[in-house]
Amino acid sequence: MDNSKIAIINGKLFISNKFKKGTLLIHGEKIHKVIIEENKILNENISLDGYKIIDATNCIVSFGFFDPHVHLRTPGFEYKEDWVSGVKAAIKGGFTYIVDMPNTNPPSINLESLEIKNNIAKNSKINYGLYIGLTDDNSKNIGKIFSDILEKNINLLGIKVFLGSSTGSLLVKNEKSIKHSLETKYINLFHCEDENTLQKYKDIEYKTVYDYTDIRPDISEIVAFHKIIKNSSKNSKIYICHISSKKLAKEIKKYRKKGYKIVAEISPHHLYFCDENIRNSSLFKVNPPIRKQKDLFYLRKLFNSGFFDIVGSDHAPHTIEEKKSKNPPSGMPGLETTFYVLANLYQNGSIKKNRLFKLLTSGYKIFSIKDRGKIKAGNFADITIVQKKPYTIKNNSIVSKANFSPYSGLKANYSIKSVIINGELIL
Ligand SMILES: [Zn+2]
Repeated sequence: MDNSKIAIINGKLFISNKFKKGTLLIHGEKIHKVIIEENKILNENISLDGYKIIDATNCIVSFGFFDPHVHLRTPGFEYKEDWVSGVKAAIKGGFTYIVDMPNTNPPSINLESLEIKNNIAKNSKINYGLYIGLTDDNSKNIGKIFSDILEKNINLLGIKVFLGSSTGSLLVKNEKSIKHSLETKYINLFHCEDENTLQKYKDIEYKTVYDYTDIRPDISEIVAFHKIIKNSSKNSKIYICHISSKKLAKEIKKYRKKGYKIVAEISPHHLYFCDENIRNSSLFKVNPPIRKQKDLFYLRKLFNSGFFDIVGSDHAPHTIEEKKSKNPPSGMPGLETTFYVLANLYQNGSIKKNRLFKLLTSGYKIFSIKDRGKIKAGNFADITIVQKKPYTIKNNSIVSKANFSPYSGLKANYSIKSVIINGELIL
């Protein structure tokens, strides 16, 4: 595909937080030229002979979407998802770069397990990175283990720290482990619920999904967050996953003001659902839980104010049989629906459009990915084109092995038209 040429014409290019009408030329796997209409010299004609033309009239042309938070469940739980179905779901959702979480079986906690996972992932068309899971065992040498893995050309992007039990066996109990990890130069991504606090509420009976926010209350997020701060310095790279509550968001605000560097991630379900708009179904059971309306409204307000740095789908598929069982696991699929949820919120006036595209492409900068992230000559051609065309999320069109979506029936005015990865038109 090296000598293939693609021209994307008549679209609005999302560049520097603005939408500018222009033409994008792709040669091989790189962006060759970006021509912005308003800067164009009168009568300047570009010959498009030999190009495959994509007409992007009524479309927004964005750099490819980046998802920092996916669970492709492989190895170990291939019946829930694998790299074929998961990548298909990602591309369908407009993502060109995904980063996979370590709570697989074996868990990704050392070189061997990451080599196993990387061998599974490496032939997929999508760009990807991996995380290593912190344990009380590997924490003493976590910096060295990390650099050894990088030397093997595995694209390790951060350390995932589970402070509360979620899916899988990864859990950090010793505070010293957190300290060791935060002393490295790498990004630490926290599942920010405190296990000891969760234990205090574990006897509350799960009768309906509405009980879940009491079983895993927001106070557990606050306790976990203070543990992180206690063991960090102002140079630590702290990344808080899926912020679900007003309380936690306010606390993060406070510590940012004191000079702590904290990357704040929001997941679409915490920006869309609350106890008032979900059905009584365990399809909506997720860690941390769907919270109250006051939390939802506050998170949306923060979304527009620029508080959040990134959107993470937290794509966490389980089979529908598991989700409907007596003891349903937590988590929901999200790769195929994240863009549509945000587009729906945009057309309802809940969030701003440029913020939406910004947060779907901000991962490149946060994780220091070279030559990607911006529509710019010389960068890799990872492009997501969305068109003004209605779309409805339907359970029967889900390609993830989860085979359901909690957003079934949700409508959006925009839909994913094309996805280009490394110069190749994939969708
Ligand atoms: Zn997750």
